[in-house]
Amino acid sequence: MRLEGIHHVTAITGDAPGNVDFYVRVLGLRLVKKTVNQDDPTVYHLFYADERGSAGADITFFEYPGAQRGRAGAGMVHQVAFRVGSEEALDLWAERLEREGVSVSRGDQRLTFSDPEGLGLELVVAETGDEPLTAESPEIPAEHRIQGFDHVRAFTRDPEASRSFLEGSLEFTQSAESGFEARGDQRGGLYLYDTTDQAGIPGAGTVHHVAWASTPEEHEAWRERVIEGGGRPTPVIDRFYFKSIYFREPSGVLFEIATIGPGFTTDEPLESLGERLSLPPDFEHLREQVEPVLTPITNPREAWAAR
Ligand code: ZN
Repeated sequence: MRLEGIHHVTAITGDAPGNVDFYVRVLGLRLVKKTVNQDDPTVYHLFYADERGSAGADITFFEYPGAQRGRAGAGMVHQVAFRVGSEEALDLWAERLEREGVSVSRGDQRLTFSDPEGLGLELVVAETGDEPLTAESPEIPAEHRIQGFDHVRAFTRDPEASRSFLEGSLEFTQSAESGFEARGDQRGGLYLYDTTDQAGIPGAGTVHHVAWASTPEEHEAWRERVIEGGGRPTPVIDRFYFKSIYFREPSGVLFEIATIGPGFTTDEPLESLGERLSLPPDFEHLREQVEPVLTPITNPREAWAAR
């Protein structure tokens, strides 16, 4: 049994319109689902991914309008990294981001920057045979588009604290860098640590949790593994687009294990993913109350379509 890399990463935004503009227009991802936070249906849960809304490419945001900026600390993910195809792609991205007023830092095979609310991001030229998961964008040549997740980096007080749980229960393996890899039959994703004693402050621009991908068949078995390893998972929660369990790994980072599928085409066709507000069946009765209070957002795709 192996986890199929990163399923999705969920972070917090205080500015939904700015968030859509950055992830769709600037980074060229597709808004694949516009729905509400199932634990607070008066605010958005926005999902950006590749064209098909694949696990492995899906960064999502809970909206807390006007939320203060947070700061990542021990027990929190502080950087989300996506793959690109080449150094030439990094050249394009460096120029594109600087033109948008984003400061970038170029390293060996990587480009490091932050989103408008301070969330740490990185683009990495990755040596991998994993399928590139890309979204259509008229402004980014196909070969330079973002290709799905490479890694997340978390802060911990003790990089060894989680080793036996990650290796023994979740079947992560030691990666070349200081960290771990979850690699299944289809994809892999890295989980890397940096050390800090600083406590985090949740808020805008911070990561809420990272989800790892499981086949639907193995999902319950992963829950048992987590329990055997001393973790305390939630019951299986049906998130409609996938099923989930949540638990904290020993370094304090909130993990989710989510099923690959049924996916975002469950309640709307692939061609129009994310265009209208999607409400899972248990929330549909709230549509008339919820739609007028949600922050108005403009999807840059509508402007592209009109060109
Ligand atoms: Zn999640």
